[in-house]
Amino acid sequence: MSASTSVIGFPRIGAQRELKKAIEGYWKGRLDLDQVKETARTLRADHWRLQREAGIDLIPSNDFSYYDQMLDTAILLNAVPRRYRDLGLGPEDTLFAMGRGYQGDQGDVTAQPMKKWFTTNYHYLVPEIDADTRLELTGTKPFDEFQEAKDLGIITKPVLIGPYTFLKLARGPEGEKFEPGQDLVASLAQAYADIIRRFADLGAGWVQLDEPYLVLDKEDGDLDLFRTLYQGILPARQGGKGSVKVLLQTYFGHVGDCLDQINELAFDGIGLDLVEGCDENLAALKRSGVSHGTMVFAGLVNGRNIWRNNYAVSLGILDAVRQLTPDVVVSTASSLLHVPFTVANEDGLDAQTVRPHFAFAVEKLGELRDLAVLADTDEAGKKSSRALADNQRLFDGTRVERDQAVSSRLAALDDQDFVRQPDRAERQRIQADELGLPTLPTTTIGSFPQTAEVRSYRAKLRKKEIGQEEYDQFIASQIDQVIDHQERIGLDVLVHGEFERNDMVEYFGQNLNGYLFTKNAWVQSYGTRCVKPPIVWGDVSRARPITVRWSSYAQSRTKHVVKGMLTGPVTILNWSWPREDISHQEQTQQLALAIRDEVLDLEAAGIRVIQIDEAALREKLPLRRSDWHTRYLDWAVPAFRLVHSAVKPTTQIHTHMCYSEFNDIIKDIDAMDADVISFEASRSDLTVLDAIQEAHFETEAGPGVYDIHSPRIPSREEIVERIHAILDKLDAGKVWINPDCGLKTRGNEETWPSLEHMVAAARQVRDELSAQH
Ligand code: GLN
Ligand code: ZN
Repeated sequence: MSASTSVIGFPRIGAQRELKKAIEGYWKGRLDLDQVKETARTLRADHWRLQREAGIDLIPSNDFSYYDQMLDTAILLNAVPRRYRDLGLGPEDTLFAMGRGYQGDQGDVTAQPMKKWFTTNYHYLVPEIDADTRLELTGTKPFDEFQEAKDLGIITKPVLIGPYTFLKLARGPEGEKFEPGQDLVASLAQAYADIIRRFADLGAGWVQLDEPYLVLDKEDGDLDLFRTLYQGILPARQGGKGSVKVLLQTYFGHVGDCLDQINELAFDGIGLDLVEGCDENLAALKRSGVSHGTMVFAGLVNGRNIWRNNYAVSLGILDAVRQLTPDVVVSTASSLLHVPFTVANEDGLDAQTVRPHFAFAVEKLGELRDLAVLADTDEAGKKSSRALADNQRLFDGTRVERDQAVSSRLAALDDQDFVRQPDRAERQRIQADELGLPTLPTTTIGSFPQTAEVRSYRAKLRKKEIGQEEYDQFIASQIDQVIDHQERIGLDVLVHGEFERNDMVEYFGQNLNGYLFTKNAWVQSYGTRCVKPPIVWGDVSRARPITVRWSSYAQSRTKHVVKGMLTGPVTILNWSWPREDISHQEQTQQLALAIRDEVLDLEAAGIRVIQIDEAALREKLPLRRSDWHTRYLDWAVPAFRLVHSAVKPTTQIHTHMCYSEFNDIIKDIDAMDADVISFEASRSDLTVLDAIQEAHFETEAGPGVYDIHSPRIPSREEIVERIHAILDKLDAGKVWINPDCGLKTRGNEETWPSLEHMVAAARQVRDELSAQH
């Protein structure tokens, strides 16, 4: 006998990113829809079997998605805005139109807004609910997939985004928050009741409803909403033909402030994250217990790291839970969607000293099994357990030597190292003289399309089919072209295009001491897009200058100012797999010193504008407000200042952020003390402009004037309108005109016309402004 095991969700993209390749092949017209469906079916079957073979008891279904599970939920519940229905496309194409916009014979619509899924780098599509929306169960996807697994002899546990999280993340047509009316709440509860009843009839044992929104601070009415929804849903567990159990699954934090309310509803199971928010969840369990008959799903195996689980620690936590309630299932702490597939093929990592420290999705299945078995093994059995002994060895002794040079440099820092002189207003005057830019200066975020040609050169270099020299010549010619093209269309601040970078984090990591890289450890970021974060293994320092060569080359090709392009320390850490033996604060400071060296070298090489991207700063903001400063901003913001505090007043420091819901931390962003910031503002509402206005934001700002996450080409008129909306709120003297993010995922076909429209729009508004004076 051993405890049962449960997986909250499994990666769906495939060990070799098969799903990505199939869907993108379809978009490019190389594959037809049936081929995509076949790939999808094979992946689902493989993943279910893999989990069954690993001995997992509760295997998820409906964790598969062509694009995003939130988008699937919206479609399932009939929340498809009219403009997408009106395209008259088939179901999959409608789904893709919602995800990435559509421009073609059937019409022209933008994509739905996209936001970061809690503190991950995964993006979900924001459901849109308007006066016309009639929420009801219209789709069959979860049932079809359940049946598909059943036909393979596997009774899965269907997973769905829960109604509370769905509603809390939904927005109105203008991206606004709204108060759901009683009718809406009732129809949503009805739809979920229909789902539960249907599963009861289909013979499911459990249905998992994901409610990560419960780990956030509550607003007035939230808990009433939660209760109303579930009071409407839970009676449906007794279906017509059978009955089903409902698992309320929480993750990414604790539910210490609402466990009592959860208990009142008497769920059959409650899933608790015992990695993030472990202490608070344990304390809440101790205080309130769980209602009679409720099983606790103990989230012990981290779904968001790549390091081996420390069995002794997990078993200790499990013991603590079992003392409070006997019925415990060993579970992942969150979906494994956020980790790569398997360590097995990472033959670039040493098999003796390095690989044993890592566990990706497949290996985490083994950890769940080990823990479940060990949980019911007595002390004598534990002593002779090979699994436990092997695991312990990973955590005994020194995994990696500390770098004394790095620690002494950190110890020598004083307050002055975190403050740039003179103050910003003074610098902005000096820089206006120095750079001589027009009002509403135009620029881009850094990268230009990474074409098949660029990627093939990098691949050839990697496979040693060409030498470094030939590769460098190619990069130089790409830079020549992109500089020339930017000059021709009339951009003001140019970039070198980032052709030499595969990725804005990996490229830096490759030039830092202390980093490791994988070959195939891809994780889904949005839609079919995946990222491959590098691993922080030891203490970090700069091994050599990183960007100086290509930035100065680009500057040598033009009289216009070329912006140097760096990734900031917080983002490098957030998009790496951090180590767990020292704090994030310390790792970020090490990175800050490394990037500071690079900033000063760029300045010395004659680069007058330097952008330090902090695309991911907002992403890791703790979910609970009380943790924002103490657990994050109090060190993240100073780390950024440390990077640029030593530059000359004439050097203009830019930063950039993506998907920045940063209204709440606007003051902290200003406190980063950059001269200019560009950010995403085109897929989301423009309330950020109000926040900027109210905060008397000092940093000059470039709210993105069009969405680069879609192949759609915006018209000049559309951009003019967008600029007008921006100038309604912000002082023209402090506004920059730019797209909302880097262009590397786009094609040249759409990029250049879009930028031409953007430049034309900026010129038109500039003319309007000068006519007014
Ligand atoms: N400079 C980077 C680029 O243009 C920024 C990317 C990002 O914000 N994610 O690609
Ligand atoms: Zn961006």
